Amino acid sequence: MSESDAETLFERVVAGEIPADVVYEDEATFAFRDIRPQARVHVLVVPRKRYRNVAELAAADPQLLADLVKTAAKVAELEGVAESGYRVVFNTDSDAGQTVFHVHAHVLGGEQLGFFGRLG
Ligand code: AMP
Repeated sequence: MSESDAETLFERVVAGEIPADVVYEDEATFAFRDIRPQARVHVLVVPRKRYRNVAELAAADPQLLADLVKTAAKVAELEGVAESGYRVVFNTDSDAGQTVFHVHAHVLGGEQLGFFGRLG
């Protein structure tokens, strides 16, 4: 997938042009299940407005970043993992494996998660 394709993908999900399993939405944010789940609970949380990554979002609109993290916590509650624990991940650019350049928080949980870091 080229970056220009990837840039529009989550905008199209938010616009309802690509079907998604929506978990929660409000004025500023939108949460839907990852199409290739890496844990029993794997939900993506995006701002409706596109920023390329979390650093750009933080610099441009800190309130919206806070809203995004609050939605991640809300998703954890809705998915029943707020008590058992969960991970919030922002992959940022190439070495982290970011493939969609519309900032998104991965909310992962529902089971004991593995360590993460270097490949292999
Ligand atoms: P990242 O690698 O951090 O950019 O994460 C992109 C995520 O988007 C991956 O975990 C993909 O499985 C997920 N994904 C790609 N297309 C879709 C889609 N149409 N609906 C839901 N999740 C998607």
